Amino acid sequence: MSNLEDLYREVILDHYRSPRNRGELETPPALRVEGFNPLCGDEVVVYLLVDNGVLTDIKMTGHGCSISQSSSSLMSAAVKGKSLEQVRGLITTFKTLMTVHESSIDSSEPPPLQDVRALGELAALQGVVKFPVRIKCATLAWNTLNQGLDELSAID
Ligand code: ZN
Repeated sequence: MSNLEDLYREVILDHYRSPRNRGELETPPALRVEGFNPLCGDEVVVYLLVDNGVLTDIKMTGHGCSISQSSSSLMSAAVKGKSLEQVRGLITTFKTLMTVHESSIDSSEPPPLQDVRALGELAALQGVVKFPVRIKCATLAWNTLNQGLDELSAID
């Protein structure tokens, strides 16, 4: 288990030190969405470019703690090039992972394995749930992305 935790720690540090998809996209055509976590002072700005139901490009800026910034980077790598349906599915799976742990920290219930595997590197963030105050750091980018998708579907 400690080996797995070391691996997860490495993934998080790697994404924190070398964030993926860092930068901005021209708006329009891209949509710009901002997210803020007042509990920790984390900020993310997400730029989404959607074409024909596919998230063709995503860029992010922002600053904050290692959890919020590595979660942003991991998310951008996971959702880029996916259909909006797949992106919605990933958001739901990730938030469920965080919520499941949040409500069952003292239970021995294992996390839904299939979902964890589907998350790939994102599973590294499940260690965050041991620190409930950091869950909002981990979900910030995801909530911001979700808000962007809602705005896009409102335009359609
Ligand atoms: Zn934070």
